[in-house]
Amino acid sequence: MTLLEVRNLEVTYPGGAAAVRGVDLSLAAGRKLGIAGESGCGKSTLALALLRLLPAGARVSGEVLLDGEDVMTMKWGQVRAVRWAGASIVFQGAMHSLNPVHRVGDQIAEPILLHRRATAAEARDKTGELLEHVGLPASRASAYPHELSGGQRQRVMIAMALACDPRLIIADEPTTALDVMIQAQILRLIEQLVAEQDVGLVMISHDLAVLADTCDRLAVMYAGRIVEEGPARQVHEDARHPYAKALSAAFPRIGDPASRFAPRGLAGDPPDPSELPSGCTFHPRCPEALDRCATEDQPLRDAGPGRQAACVHMGAPGPGRTAATEDEDARSTT
Ligand code: ADP
Ligand code: MG
Repeated sequence: MTLLEVRNLEVTYPGGAAAVRGVDLSLAAGRKLGIAGESGCGKSTLALALLRLLPAGARVSGEVLLDGEDVMTMKWGQVRAVRWAGASIVFQGAMHSLNPVHRVGDQIAEPILLHRRATAAEARDKTGELLEHVGLPASRASAYPHELSGGQRQRVMIAMALACDPRLIIADEPTTALDVMIQAQILRLIEQLVAEQDVGLVMISHDLAVLADTCDRLAVMYAGRIVEEGPARQVHEDARHPYAKALSAAFPRIGDPASRFAPRGLAGDPPDPSELPSGCTFHPRCPEALDRCATEDQPLRDAGPGRQAACVHMGAPGPGRTAATEDEDARSTT
């Protein structure tokens, strides 16, 4: 059975901001899916929605099946159990997620005591094991967060995420706040853990190169939708959607300092989700836009074996197809 299956997920914040608009995803155990996109494209909203962590007032619809069970319709008790043993999240900026006044070992032990009904001694042993597993000496359990470096804190966050042996790890910009050397170490650690423990990984980043290097498949998000999806390397090296092309041009290599800036050749910002442009939401920034892109919504289309892209230029007339049938297709899918 598929570990994670997301169907037609929509999230609207109070005030009408449509932050996630009809996302479908699928992930098998032991596989790694990357979600890329500029800041504001809805990546964190999507991650939070998967575990029902959105603020009250956010309207959510669609299905999130974890091992076939819909997280959206679970009772709260069940959701809480899922958040530890089913799926856990590693966030960006570990300093803000760790409690500054508690020793990191106690913070790792807490879910083990709570959700595993372990004794204090068992929880302490498990905490030591987890720290060693993420490359820290077990003795660091007695440290306070401010006594650790950024990379060490992120390792602690990963140990916490692993505490109850989750089936799925969601990592939202897990290395963005770290320098390049540490970033690479943390990425290798996450990869190694996923491979060893056969968990599924959803990794979110604005950095397409990082995702291409770590993940099996890549989904590129723009204005709350997936605009391209396919094998990670292919999407990075030979993107089909103009937005994915701009993003991969901006992140040619991991840790390239020049690639910290906005997508090359792409003026402007992603749209405000409460004031989305008509037609293809990318058309105002798109170097390849046609007139009809301003009025025609572009759904995901076939873009080669195992690949999809939401662009009018996909499915270009091949043998037996004419520009007229292509136009026909575009009309009938809107
Ligand atoms: P990303 O993680 O890709 O940067 P987010 O999911 O954080 O994107 O944000 C997507 C959009 O939703 C942004 O326009 C952001 O301003 C908006 N948004 C995020 N959180 C809230 C909130 N709590 N209330 C209203 N709007 C929000
Ligand atoms: Mg985010």
